[in-house]
Amino acid sequence: MDTDLQKGCELHVHVGGCLYVDDIFAMGRDIYEEVDWSLFVESYEKAYGVRPDPVRIFADAITTRRPDLCDLRRHYVFDQKDGGDFGRFMAKFNLLICLNRHWLETERDGELVERIVERHRSEGLDYVEYRAMYMSHGDEEVVSFHRRIARTLRNASGGGLTARYAVSVPRWDPLGGLELVLRLLDESPELADTIVGIDFCNVEEGFPPKTALPLFERLERHNSEHPERSLEVLYHVGESFWDKSLESAVRWCHEAAELGVRRLGHATALGLDPAVAISRREDAHVAELDSERLDQIHYDLRHQVELRKFGVEIAPGVLEAEREELLGRGPGSQVTRDYSPTRLEEIRRRQDFVLHRLAESGTVVESCPTSNLRIGGVPDAARHPIHRFLRSQVNLVVGADDPGIFDSPLAAEIDWVVAHSGLDARGLAQRLGDPRRFRLGQQRPR
Ligand SMILES: [Zn+2]
Repeated sequence: MDTDLQKGCELHVHVGGCLYVDDIFAMGRDIYEEVDWSLFVESYEKAYGVRPDPVRIFADAITTRRPDLCDLRRHYVFDQKDGGDFGRFMAKFNLLICLNRHWLETERDGELVERIVERHRSEGLDYVEYRAMYMSHGDEEVVSFHRRIARTLRNASGGGLTARYAVSVPRWDPLGGLELVLRLLDESPELADTIVGIDFCNVEEGFPPKTALPLFERLERHNSEHPERSLEVLYHVGESFWDKSLESAVRWCHEAAELGVRRLGHATALGLDPAVAISRREDAHVAELDSERLDQIHYDLRHQVELRKFGVEIAPGVLEAEREELLGRGPGSQVTRDYSPTRLEEIRRRQDFVLHRLAESGTVVESCPTSNLRIGGVPDAARHPIHRFLRSQVNLVVGADDPGIFDSPLAAEIDWVVAHSGLDARGLAQRLGDPRRFRLGQQRPR
């Protein structure tokens, strides 16, 4: 038994992140002189201290007999040497954004999606769920973007590869985003087989899972009225949580699952050892908003019986007194609490508790090794959260997230797990099982 099953099914990938350096070259070779590069140039200079000249980079690549993409690669691929700095990641990603704007204006982005699917097919993938986000104030533009992507995926599907689509909605207006997706499904019913879900991605700080509740209520209504085009939810959570305590970061993963999310993206907060998490920065996770602490108190009181079973001591009287005190303070104040060895140990038990609950509810964790190492604040392979997930009973899949800009396809991600987890290919295949059992859309009537 090998990991072929796992290497053939991609459940966590963003359309934009699937473009490799040769795709970037193909996108730019005829238009690079007309592109407005300022976003890339400014952000790159800020992040790396040198001002790049993209017009020269493309011109040089073209003049060589076989295009030499070394320099373009150096300015685009985000690797370990970039040091996990998010500003540097965005600077390199901006190269794609500048080019993509040009393709969007001419509505030729469908051609890029075709390239992406074709590459996945040639890599031997047979099932891929893509996600994409489109930021615009114009509803028409948003609907027409997602329609174009979904149509292209629908047409490109086949020939051994099934392509599905989950629309990423803005965290600041998830309900508004959902309404546009429902409208798209109303107007283009032929896309119902392709559009199978909703995704929450991008910056999570400032958007507690409870802010997504109206979307889930609306979705429940839609799903019962239209079971044949019902949608499920994917939710990036616990990936970046510098603004809060580790208890809150663990809680967010649990709260997202309780909303009814099918698969959680990353959930690093559930697998990264708390001692490692706090060692990453000075005063990491020490302070959080009063509102977070209040939500934590509410959560602890609600789950006190189960938490105690996992060895987490809950003292209701103390928590209630703290709540009274916090309620008397002004908005925007913060709670600061240092970490003791006892508290760190208790957080490990909270992680166990939530992983146990996810295993019970069947919620899936999507872990993306390279992404977590390069932009997710995971310090090294040995301390990757996936090891903890593998030891637990949680449903687990491995995804590539942004294989193009990381230059790391899904097969390389699976091989990475084999190389670093202590499991051989057979052991990993057994532990993960067939990821296709977690694909979206299976609740629909046949
Ligand atoms: Zn992602």
